[in-house]
Amino acid sequence: METLAAPPQEKTQVDDRLAYLEEAYRRLLSSLDILSSIEDFPQPGRGLPDLNKVFGATHRRLEQLVPMDKYGFFLADDAQLDFPLAYCMPEHAGPRLDKDISRFIDDGTFAWALNQTRAITFTDPASGAQTVLHALATRERVLGMFMGVIEDHTKELNEVSLMLLSVVLLNCSYVLETTRLNYQVAEHNAHLEEQIQKRTQELQIAKELAEQSARAKSEFLSSMSHEIRTPLNGIMGMLNLLKGTALDDTQRRYLKTANNSSDTLLVLINDILDFSKIEAGRLELEHVAFDLRTLSEDVLDLLSERAHAKGLELVPEISPRLPSRIIGDPTRIRQILINLVGNAIKFTETGHITLRIAVTDQNRDENTVDLRFEIVDTGIGIAEDARERIFQSFSQADSSTTRKYGGTGLGLAICKRLMQAMDGEIGVDSALGRGSTFWFGARFDIDGDTSEDLPVQDLRGTRVLYALAHAPTAHALLRTLNAWGMPATAAENSEEVLDQLARGVAWDVLLIDAGLLNGSFGSFAKQVHQAPDAGDLPVVLALPFGEQNQWPQLSKFGYRSFFTKPLRQDALHRALCIARGLESSQCQWDEVSQRESVRLVPATRLLIVDDNETNREVAVTVIAGFGPQVDVACNGIEAVDAARNATYDLIFMDCQMPQMDGYEATRKIREFDPDIPIVAMTADILDGVRERCRQAGMDDYISKPVNFDALQTMLAKWLPDRLADDDHDEQTATGMMQSAHHASATSAPELPLPSEGFNQATSNTLKTLMGQEKFADFISRFIANTHKRLDELAQAQARGDADAVHRLTHSLKGSTGNIGAMALSQLCHELSYGVQKTGVCDITAAQIDIIRTTFTTLEPHLERLKT
Ligand code: ADP
Repeated sequence: METLAAPPQEKTQVDDRLAYLEEAYRRLLSSLDILSSIEDFPQPGRGLPDLNKVFGATHRRLEQLVPMDKYGFFLADDAQLDFPLAYCMPEHAGPRLDKDISRFIDDGTFAWALNQTRAITFTDPASGAQTVLHALATRERVLGMFMGVIEDHTKELNEVSLMLLSVVLLNCSYVLETTRLNYQVAEHNAHLEEQIQKRTQELQIAKELAEQSARAKSEFLSSMSHEIRTPLNGIMGMLNLLKGTALDDTQRRYLKTANNSSDTLLVLINDILDFSKIEAGRLELEHVAFDLRTLSEDVLDLLSERAHAKGLELVPEISPRLPSRIIGDPTRIRQILINLVGNAIKFTETGHITLRIAVTDQNRDENTVDLRFEIVDTGIGIAEDARERIFQSFSQADSSTTRKYGGTGLGLAICKRLMQAMDGEIGVDSALGRGSTFWFGARFDIDGDTSEDLPVQDLRGTRVLYALAHAPTAHALLRTLNAWGMPATAAENSEEVLDQLARGVAWDVLLIDAGLLNGSFGSFAKQVHQAPDAGDLPVVLALPFGEQNQWPQLSKFGYRSFFTKPLRQDALHRALCIARGLESSQCQWDEVSQRESVRLVPATRLLIVDDNETNREVAVTVIAGFGPQVDVACNGIEAVDAARNATYDLIFMDCQMPQMDGYEATRKIREFDPDIPIVAMTADILDGVRERCRQAGMDDYISKPVNFDALQTMLAKWLPDRLADDDHDEQTATGMMQSAHHASATSAPELPLPSEGFNQATSNTLKTLMGQEKFADFISRFIANTHKRLDELAQAQARGDADAVHRLTHSLKGSTGNIGAMALSQLCHELSYGVQKTGVCDITAAQIDIIRTTFTTLEPHLERLKT
């Protein structure tokens, strides 16, 4: 048998190889161990990279795994053209390594090695030293070159070592690359910060410039608007004066057109000014306590003439849960309401407009209330695609709107911005052809003061029978009465009222719409009081808007009290209190009539300060109409002088004037007279003007164009002890005529005035405005004309010509009213009203006779006025 044992020489060779392999694997394993456990590679942090650390760590690792005598790391520059030495070990080896690498570069070895993914080794034939080149590269980029040198030719680098070298250098390359990228990011960030800072600076400058220009724009607009408003005030004031003079129909029509145009122009200027102010970010909201119910009712009052002219009914539906006072900006809420209700009137031809205020939420802990306002109309409606758009500036629902209804399309944009400023919302629901509901809502703080609440508990339990001509108003009335704890029953019309009364049910108050009585006020009152148990049933009349003048006449028929529409809770409350005997009826009428003619005792002395001649003239003429002596000053300096040298009861002070403005003048006057009431009179409506006036020491504020009512209110407010009572009337009238015509003091005639129904002030104003001669001529023509018209009226009545009767009574109402013959005017009005309502000529010859008699009684007095 042959033996299989290898010859001894071969066995030794196999053993050697085995030993070598064992040694190689052992080393490999331990190297892998070391590799996997090494964690000392500096992780690239956020700061700037420290390449020395990376190379140091790599070098340490190579010393363990692939020990060499010299290590060099060459890093490529940005252009990858040059590879300077970045790190070497030992440190003194630098020059030698530099020299070697230059050689390799020159002979192309370097370039070749750079493109390899493994180590390239060379042995120097002379010294036997080995040089290793290995590219430092990631998959994407070449970063540099590693060069190692082993002097001892007996230390051979085997495959495993070379593999380990590759692993370590690859690792190093990735760390280098990450470090480089980090460095770039950091640099970029630093740059970015710099850029942001620069941009922020630029933006800041741009913002300041924009703000500056917005301020300039707003100031320009404000002063422009002041400039435009000054002559406009003059125009409006003059038109107002003209209105009080004798005009024929054509002139009156022209006047009306001119009036409407100037009103529109004023609204437009205010809108544009307002809008630009909001755009310029200069909107400042007030936070004051106010009575929202009264404010809303005032808005309806203000707009009722417009609604009335179109035959539209305005209906307030204000929740009884509404707190009596809330905190907010009353001026802006008023502005929004006027805008929305105004639009509703503009875009509605028939039906009614409801202003609803509902409490949607109330937080008692925080003392806040969420309110929703709704303005509901029965008008043309708004197409769906236009509903968003109309809230943008200068935008209207469709292009024909401007032609037909006018307007700028700014109103809703302003409302929207105001609501945004109040943290509220605004929107519209609408059905084309059927109407729109504009709504807005916001949260308000509640003011705890309830001292001015209506004392409704006094009326609790009062049983009311009512008939109102218009269902939505009747509904609103019912809600109010119920909220006040008053049981109420509705009747459709006057017949039904009488039916109810005939049944003998007991009521405490009867409330009836004058519109349901067709002018037969007397007979209805009589019928009511003839009903069983209704002998002294108090009857409250609901009068149409603007018809309160009828009251003195109507009260004679036995009506107890009245209120006018649109329904106001305070007026209704008062009318009911009077009906229940809780208040006297005199005060109600006094208030109304007082509102109509404030007169000052002639000893009153006022100073009007204004630099604009037209404005001065308007103010003087209107204010003189109230009976005081009036002085003028053309600027602040003159005003201060005048105030120092004479004793005034009140000063009306323009704000913007050359030389010395109103603020400065007021401050100067306050130095020697802290008490005299000073009322600012200004065309500026910018926020803050009111505050500026107050700070300067003024007591009140009236905006131009000044209107009669506002002036009247101011005079009544600040000069309560200067108001003339009835006994003073004649003196006032006489005083006025004297000042107007420089009549001698002894010629002051004791005018035998008709005791009732003649308003002397009206004719006096006319006389003052026209001058003696023209006025005498005017009176003569008036007397002749009235006779002629009365004849025509008698003929028309005989023919049963309702149209002619209406036309003549209507024109008589106007002409007699113009000269102050109020009772006569009232009589004519009643006839004209009745005929117009019924369309039937149901007046009697006797009624015309009454008018004629009243007129002939007045005639001698009129004749005397001429002299
Ligand atoms: P202006 O009325 O001055 O044009 P607004 O901003 O107040 O500006 O209104 C914008 C448009 O919205 C109006 O032109 C009209 O087309 C539409 N609009 C506003 N209110 C109503 C409404 N109650 N009914 C129908 N359309 C309306």
